Amino acid sequence: MTDELKQYAYEHRHDFDRLVEFKSVSAKKSELPETAAWIADTFRDLGAQEVEKWTDFGEDNPVVFASFKGQNQDKTILFYNHYDVQPAEPFDEWKTEPFKVTEKDGFFYGRGISDDKGELMYRLTLLKYYREHGGLPVNVKFFVEGEEEVGSLRTPKYAEKHSEQLSCDACVWEGGGYNNMDHYQVVGGLRGIISFDVEVTTADVDMHSSLASYAESAPWRLVKGLSSLRDTNGHILIDGFYDTVDKMSPEEEKLAEEQDFNLENAKKAAGLRHTVNDYNPLKELVNMPTISINGLSAGYQGTGVKTVIPRHASAKLDCRLSPHQDPEKMMQLVREQLVKNGFPDLEVHMNLGEPGYRADVNDEFVKLAMDEAKKYYGPETKYVLNAAGGGPADMVNTLGVPTLSIGCGYAGAKVHGPNENIRVKDYTDAVQYLGNLLNAYGK
Ligand SMILES: [Zn+2]
Repeated sequence: MTDELKQYAYEHRHDFDRLVEFKSVSAKKSELPETAAWIADTFRDLGAQEVEKWTDFGEDNPVVFASFKGQNQDKTILFYNHYDVQPAEPFDEWKTEPFKVTEKDGFFYGRGISDDKGELMYRLTLLKYYREHGGLPVNVKFFVEGEEEVGSLRTPKYAEKHSEQLSCDACVWEGGGYNNMDHYQVVGGLRGIISFDVEVTTADVDMHSSLASYAESAPWRLVKGLSSLRDTNGHILIDGFYDTVDKMSPEEEKLAEEQDFNLENAKKAAGLRHTVNDYNPLKELVNMPTISINGLSAGYQGTGVKTVIPRHASAKLDCRLSPHQDPEKMMQLVREQLVKNGFPDLEVHMNLGEPGYRADVNDEFVKLAMDEAKKYYGPETKYVLNAAGGGPADMVNTLGVPTLSIGCGYAGAKVHGPNENIRVKDYTDAVQYLGNLLNAYGK
């Protein structure tokens, strides 16, 4: 395999630096339309067939859509990127100017260079290369949004409204790259999540603790109710909670076992004293739901003594879900179980529900992505069934196609923090690998 593309990417590594210079911070609604306009112009310059700015759900951060025709017109890849970034504060912790690409000792620095402008830049570089070298191997589309860092609230609506224009055979998402053992990863899914509050009120006033002889307290009600939902080994005691867990194919089980996970290392890294689910931590991480108490609050927490029966207690919880579990239905199961267990007074308020997704590991594009990654990045390359974090899986499920993260990040990228960076070699490798993949897919 030649590395012509990699060479090209290196020579052209500063062609799209302008993108980082936009202060497109979505939290501050700063320079978003300007950034979208620049991206749209750039797509036009690179020979797009169609370029549109979608503002159906608001003018303040348009979605930029573009499509390019390839030599093989039967296959279409959609790229997802976002042009908004996190605020660059605290400015005094940056060693370089945040809104500028600075190349130093084999790294690029700048706000968004990893998340997610650098990825858009290397994809633009690839478009430029193909424009100068006989055209793209397959059709390519782009969906570039401007509100990812504030929750992508309108993204699923855009995906639904424009589903015909977005139709494709596979989608390449943002993110991906090297894990903390510096092995390249192809990421093909995500667990879902629900987040909710539970609260209980047991009296109109806080009472004297001597009255605990007859008066129940809110903290006791709460902890008893919550502890009825899970055993001490992490097994969830909610009827039906495991009924809709995804069935893993033998290929998926094999991929799960090959992942870079070592319980002893994980324990050491966190100084972790207790573990749960020790019968198969890997399968748990990949496929099974969890229930976590994120925070508890009740009563007096100050210094000294205060002998009181608090009238009110509350907790924040989340559940990670198997990729195809329905967030609303899982929330309902939690509510029903509390009632069944004798805690109808524990009020549940749902804060957030997002489904997960999982790419079909037997899909042609998914297999090719893995084969080409192993060829290019080496046999240590891992296929990851679920990324750790969240993501707008709603859009992926609307598209209904396998979706992968194959990016240029690495564990030291300082995403969202000062001195965000990527390695120059990862950037140029990403162009070469994606080119190899599109070439192979076009054949
Ligand atoms: Zn991002």
